[in-house]
Amino acid sequence: MKPRKIPLRKCVACQEMMPKKELIRVVRTPQEEIQIDLTGKKSGRGAYLCGKTACFKLALKNKALDRALKHNVHADIYRQLEQDFVKVEDQFIANKDTIEDDE
Ligand SMILES: [Zn+2]
Repeated sequence: MKPRKIPLRKCVACQEMMPKKELIRVVRTPQEEIQIDLTGKKSGRGAYLCGKTACFKLALKNKALDRALKHNVHADIYRQLEQDFVKVEDQFIANKDTIEDDE
């Protein structure tokens, strides 16, 4: 058995490289909608954030998501995302060990 390489992604807020499953993916869909993608499988341009509300707040403050997604993320969307983020945080942490790496 060869050791598996852990896929790393960079958190757009704190710029830290983290294993992909430690991060929450935010995706800009082809319909130009910004969504949280817990499955990591939605199509579109993705940006990653640590599964921490603090990082979401940082991203909100310095518009890291706007830059990462090359899209003007409206304040309403940030607000919506914040609610989703808080909601999914617990779920995300609970699910973390069961998300499969397929890359
Ligand atoms: Zn972060």
